[in-house]
Amino acid sequence: MDIAKVEPITTARALRGPFDYRLPERMRDVGVGSLLMVPFGHRRMLGVVTALTDHSDLPHERLAEPIEALEAGATPELVRLGLWVAERYCSTASRGLALVLPPGSGAGVPRAARARTERRAQITPTGRAALAGEARLGERQRAALESLAGAEEVSGAELARVAGADSGVLARLAERGLVTQRESEVRRRPRIDTVGASGGRVELSAQQAACVTEIVAALDGAGSRERLLHGVTGSGKTEVYLAAIEAALERGRSAILLVPEIGLTPQTLSRVAARLGDQVAVIHSGLSEGERFDEWRRLRSGEARVCVGPRSAVFAPLSDLGLIVVDEEHDSSYKQEGDPRYDARAVARRRASEAGAVYLAGSATPRPESWAELERLELSERVDGRPMPPVEVLDMRETGPRAGPLHERTRAALASLPEGAKAIVMLNRRGFSPHLSCASCGEAVSCPSCDVSLVLHRGGGRSGPRIGCHHCGHSEPVPTDCPSCGSVSIIRHGAGTERIEELIAELIAPARVFRLDADSASGRDGHTRVLSAFGAARGGVLVGTQMVAKGHDFPDVALSVLIDADSTLRYPDFRAEERTFSLVAQLAGRSGRGDRGGRVLIQTLAPAAIPIAAAARHDAPGFLAGELERRREFGYPPFASLVAIELSGAGERALAVLAKQLAEAIAPGLSAGSELLGPAPRFRRRNRFRRRLLIKTAQPERDAAAIRAVLERPEAVKALRGATLAVDVDPQ
Ligand code: ADP
Ligand code: ZN
Ligand code: ZN
Repeated sequence: MDIAKVEPITTARALRGPFDYRLPERMRDVGVGSLLMVPFGHRRMLGVVTALTDHSDLPHERLAEPIEALEAGATPELVRLGLWVAERYCSTASRGLALVLPPGSGAGVPRAARARTERRAQITPTGRAALAGEARLGERQRAALESLAGAEEVSGAELARVAGADSGVLARLAERGLVTQRESEVRRRPRIDTVGASGGRVELSAQQAACVTEIVAALDGAGSRERLLHGVTGSGKTEVYLAAIEAALERGRSAILLVPEIGLTPQTLSRVAARLGDQVAVIHSGLSEGERFDEWRRLRSGEARVCVGPRSAVFAPLSDLGLIVVDEEHDSSYKQEGDPRYDARAVARRRASEAGAVYLAGSATPRPESWAELERLELSERVDGRPMPPVEVLDMRETGPRAGPLHERTRAALASLPEGAKAIVMLNRRGFSPHLSCASCGEAVSCPSCDVSLVLHRGGGRSGPRIGCHHCGHSEPVPTDCPSCGSVSIIRHGAGTERIEELIAELIAPARVFRLDADSASGRDGHTRVLSAFGAARGGVLVGTQMVAKGHDFPDVALSVLIDADSTLRYPDFRAEERTFSLVAQLAGRSGRGDRGGRVLIQTLAPAAIPIAAAARHDAPGFLAGELERRREFGYPPFASLVAIELSGAGERALAVLAKQLAEAIAPGLSAGSELLGPAPRFRRRNRFRRRLLIKTAQPERDAAAIRAVLERPEAVKALRGATLAVDVDPQ
């Protein structure tokens, strides 16, 4: 087995490996997953070994040798997983493999991130004698020896700080044999914020304990290894995850906990870290390159046995995996938007099944797919027997046009919040006003590059109000007159989070309003800062987009308000019902987690809509049963799979023709029973016109392969020049 099949790591789609290389004697411990630097044409490229073999189609002497074997690559298990992702999501092997390699290898260049070392010094017996005796020592030399005498080993940086001893001073001490020095690797460890909740151990309720027993049995090989933990909001799901993770660790196995977005769910991470300490590593995009690299290495080496992170953590390089938990499994962030457009939940299921590990998805509002496919564990009650908060649905059709965005009852409830109580108010629309239009001619103010209206932002600091596009970033001053008729009466419609923030600030002064949306909280840990401030405050209101409904546990929240609950229902998408139900139920779930009790107000124009009415009754089983019936009737997941083909181009007519031709070329190759819908126009974005084809199929793998085959035909490649195409398997 001295031939390695190597897949070069490149973002170029045209380059299809793997390519064969001959391994010289010195590279005999290279295995599947090893990273190699290989000659490729006139270039050097980073590649990963996908197989070892004795046979190549090329004669042995014509095979090139790798230049260098790099340390720690992926495991064979992860190589298989990366290749599976590539295939399943219509991507390239290289892009699939990039997901499982050490951070920083994805672009195929030698890694920018490297292990960091520091110089550490230790005092010798001679040094101690010199300190005690009459030896001649400079002031800084003496100070350095004194610091060293009190510790086993001190870093150079520390000595410089406390004793003013730079590397020159240490070098002279070392020459005289008074100290020894060595280079030691330092791990850059990310700081883990702790918001509110402590890591203290609680006594599990009977329901929690029953769930844990079943999961542990599954770990030990009894019963289904794929489970859904359906627990109402505040039922203590995180404690169940923690107990399950501990059980896996006790069995010598490792665990992964996937969370929606670290910045928005800092509590879960801090609870896990507080409980499990150094065994936990985190991987997410907020880390520096060096931190990510070092956390990856801690996992790869087995120093850390639990990985917590968002979707990419499903690729954590852990061995002997026993458990993958997906917290808030309904969250749409588990789907990757860029190529490969993988769904971390599907990848986690695949990985768990290959590894013989338990897959545990948890949510108060599970996806219909999970409800139908996974064996259920139930937490039907809140901890401490607290009741679910009563929900009042407020019909906004009954308020006058002059009433503004807040219902009278909402205003009254906010204004009378007791001292020290908190409220969360959600509106899934950022900015101040979402639409501007001309009062004379009705012309709407829209983006020059996209078919959407520009949103008025009040602006902070000196920037003043501006209108901007949420799709392309275009921004301009607020118009004073209509661009089409010149009239000066421009009117604002609707309200966004900034407007609500302002209205509520007036209502509750001097209590504070905290705003959490993409504008208010940018930067590396902006979201966490807002959430911490709200958590620490005595009273106040948190206003924001759906970020505020993400599983936070603040015991003082006595009121939840949802403004415009039907906004998500208006999207023309088969998941609109599911999303609406989950948003309403999740927001309601933030309320009444403490001794104060809770109350929920839902403002809507569609009070009778099924998802809203079901969420108001806290009736997930009822909603899901009905939703699954509807899905069956219309042939949507889980009764069929979807594959979407997204096309975009600069010319509308050419794109329309292309989309039609593509549909005609693809249709004949699909499995019997598959249905091709479209091409349907999508709104223009960033000056690109868009079309979408949607395929409903019972055989997604077969049809995805058929689509790939059509797209690789030379005439298709030629026709697609100038257009952009993406295949999205299991679109969200
Ligand atoms: P969920 O994720 O189901 O909404 P959490 O796991 O956030 O619920 O738990 C809600 C709160 O209840 C947390 O503050 C948690 O510490 C607490 N809790 C969980 N289980 C117990 C228990 N058995 N006894 C007491 N408190 C608990
Ligand atoms: Zn006008
Ligand atoms: Zn735009």
